[in-house]
Amino acid sequence: MRQAPGPWWLGSVSVGVLACLSLLVVPPESTAWILIARVTGVCAIAAFAVATARMPARTKLVWWLMWTYAAMTVLGDIVYDVQEQLLDEAPFPGPADVLYLLAYVAAIGALTVLVRRVIPNGDRDAWLDTAIIAIAVATVIGYVVARPALLHSEQPGGTLAIALIYPFLDIVVLAGLARVILAGVRATVAITLLAMAFLVTLTADLIYDVMVSNGTEDSSRPVVDVLLLAGIVLLAAASWAPDARTVDTPSARSSAPYTPGRLTGLAVGMLTLPTLLVVAVWDNLAARRVAIAAIVVLLLAIWRLERALRTVRVQYAALGHEARTDALTGLPNRRTLDYEVVRAVDLASRTGTALTVAMLDLDHFKSYNDDNGHQAGDRLLALCAHSWRDALPANAFLARYGGEEFVALLPGLDAAAALPVLERLRESSPGHRTVSIGYAVREDRESASSVLRRADAALYDAKELGRDRIIAAW
Ligand code: GH3
Ligand code: MG
Ligand code: MG
Repeated sequence: MRQAPGPWWLGSVSVGVLACLSLLVVPPESTAWILIARVTGVCAIAAFAVATARMPARTKLVWWLMWTYAAMTVLGDIVYDVQEQLLDEAPFPGPADVLYLLAYVAAIGALTVLVRRVIPNGDRDAWLDTAIIAIAVATVIGYVVARPALLHSEQPGGTLAIALIYPFLDIVVLAGLARVILAGVRATVAITLLAMAFLVTLTADLIYDVMVSNGTEDSSRPVVDVLLLAGIVLLAAASWAPDARTVDTPSARSSAPYTPGRLTGLAVGMLTLPTLLVVAVWDNLAARRVAIAAIVVLLLAIWRLERALRTVRVQYAALGHEARTDALTGLPNRRTLDYEVVRAVDLASRTGTALTVAMLDLDHFKSYNDDNGHQAGDRLLALCAHSWRDALPANAFLARYGGEEFVALLPGLDAAAALPVLERLRESSPGHRTVSIGYAVREDRESASSVLRRADAALYDAKELGRDRIIAAW
């Protein structure tokens, strides 16, 4: 069930976002700036803690781990400020980084628990998809941001390494979130906000890295800090999202369907690195040609893969239809009935509506077979299926139970309403054939198998009483 975000939630998130935006106009490094930034951070952490404390016991672990990430990050910011403003020391790299790095351990822990819960049986396809995209993104970042930093920066290697590791940690967390989204998680608001939080953080970390490699990290700090703070506000907002409490509910989806969107994402992931290669080897004509040819071949291979998947999808749909349908009559088969009767009983008990289950059996069908041949018997079965189907209301369900026995489900109909429908059905039997019908109206809390059993007993009575009649169960 999807709930709309409440006014309190929207109001608090707006205040948090406004606080972040106000930092863009307040003079950077001023006392006011630092106060607004840190108070916003601490308030977000406090709100996050309150939300987490109110979570269901099972869901708490994921959110406390995520909270630990947020809290250690905010604490890291405070340590950074104290060093820089009060102690007049160079804060990077320093103790704040120990906190920031440990924070990621908690975030990755939260994602690990979340993925295991959402996808209890694992799903290798989705992991492979996630790995393809995550490696592509990480390599592009490595090439575009990390490589120039390592080549050109005046900074010592250790400093650079610490600055450069953050975007990769963000990508690990985002890959975990992508994995949860691919699994078809139900808590879409909470997960989207978490993903937005880490995307904003990734952006901040990338800007910071570019600035560190240029030696201009001080001038970039306000923007980076605003983005990092926005990340914390988004995390707190995620914990208060209406669907945050169900964030670790196992996904109902069992296999990974290849939707066009997902395939496009994969194709982009696969084409990213050869494209990067073309850029990297641009000055070498021979290498450039080979790299371009590699892209063309990969595009063709992706096209080929898409065609194969389409064939599989069509075959899968056809097989599914065949597995659910009786070949002779075209009606749903016994397997489908078993599923539908449980569904109909479920719906009736949830909505408090009536449900009538009727069992039909052609009279003296054996002798019809004996007199006219088995193939004529087959044709009669198909004709009966058509006539009866036409005689039933659109929301009724008719299945071939087996042999010359059929079952009708009449949702919303009690005995008084069902009887004329069944009477019409009995009279519509083709070729002057007669049919016996037993029916049962589902009683309060009665199970699917019990109501079917009673309808069957009523059918037996109809046969005993001389056939060609409709008998109610008792
Ligand atoms: P009753 O009035 O008591 O129902 O008698 P009946 O002859 O209809 O019932 P019985 O259960 O004795 O026989 C059912 C017959 O249905 C036996 C079987 O050969 C025939 N039958 C079952 N499935 C098919 C089928 O798919 N095609 C044909 N042609 N006959 C079938
Ligand atoms: Mg029969
Ligand atoms: Mg029979």
